[in-house]
Amino acid sequence: MQQKNKLFAIFGNPVTHSLSPLMHNYALEGLGINGCYTRYQLIDPKALKEKFLQLNLDAINITVPHKEAAYQACDEIRGIAKEIGAINTIVKENDKLIGYNTDAPGFFKCATSLGKIENILILGAGGTAKALAAIFRDKKISVTILNRSASRLKYFKQKNYSCYTWEDFETNTFDLVVNTTSAGLQDEYLPVDEKLLNDILNHAKYAIDVIYNKNTPFLQMAKEHDLPVKDGSDMLLFQGVYAFELFFNKRYKEEEILPFMQKAFT
Ligand code: NDP
Repeated sequence: MQQKNKLFAIFGNPVTHSLSPLMHNYALEGLGINGCYTRYQLIDPKALKEKFLQLNLDAINITVPHKEAAYQACDEIRGIAKEIGAINTIVKENDKLIGYNTDAPGFFKCATSLGKIENILILGAGGTAKALAAIFRDKKISVTILNRSASRLKYFKQKNYSCYTWEDFETNTFDLVVNTTSAGLQDEYLPVDEKLLNDILNHAKYAIDVIYNKNTPFLQMAKEHDLPVKDGSDMLLFQGVYAFELFFNKRYKEEEILPFMQKAFT
C-alpha cells in the first residue's frame, strides 16, 4: 500500500526568502519519502493553530516574527523550548500540536564543530540570543551576554546570566564570540563599537555570525584576527535536520540526509 502523502510548511512573515522549502523538499525527494513542504505567509499569529489544522498539515516550521506566539499556540512544549519560550517546529501528534526548538541544538552542533568551548560571549539579546544562552547553559558552558541597550537585558538578568551593555563591559577571554544581532544583515554595521569588538576578538578563539550567506563586517573583522569563523548556514542546516527528524520521529545519519539538504545552499 502507498504511504500517505505528508504535508509540511513554514509559517512566517515575510516567508518568501526562506530556504526551508528547498532544504526539506530535497530531503524528502532524496530519501524517497512521499511528501511536500510549502510556505505560508501568516500575518496574524493568533490564527496559527486554525491554519495548521485547516491546511491539514502534519508539521510546520515557524520563522520570524512568530516564534514566541507559536509557543502559545501549542498544546504541549517539549525539550529546551520550555526554557527558551520560543519554538520553530510544531508536529501534530494524536491531533495535538507539540512544539520544539531546533534552532538551539542546531547552533550548538555548528559551534562545537569548531573545537572545545568552555565559555561563550553572545552579542545581542533578542530571540536568537535567548535560544543560544539556554542551550549553552544546559550544556554547562559559561554564558555572557553583551547588548547595545539595557532594556533587553532584563530577561537575562532575571535568569542570572552575566550581562553587560557596551558601557559596563570589560573584555575577558572567550572561546566563542557569536553575533546574534541583526547588525550586518541589511546594513554594514558592526554589532559592537569597533574598538571594543577589536579588543574582544583579540581575546577570542572562534567567531560565528548567525546571519547566513553574507560576509558581514563582524565576520570580516574576525577573519582579519585570524579566527576560525562560520556564518549561520550550518545553524540553519542543522535546525532543519533536527526538525526533519521530529517530523518523522526518526534519527538520520548525517551522511544520509546532509547531502540532500545542502543542495539548498548551492
Ligand atoms: P531580535 O530582533 O530578537 O534581536 C535583535 C538584537 O540585535 C537586539 O539585541 C538588538 O539590540 C540588536 N541590534 C539590532 N541592530 C543593532 C545594531 N545596529 N548594533 C547593535 N545591536 C543591534 O532578532 P533575532 O534574535 O530574531 O534575530 C537576530 C539575527 O539572527 C537576524 O540577523 C536573523 O537573520 C538571524 N537568525 C539566523 C538564524 C539561522 O538559522 N542562521 C535563525 C534565527 C535568526 P537592542 O536591544 O539594543 O535593540
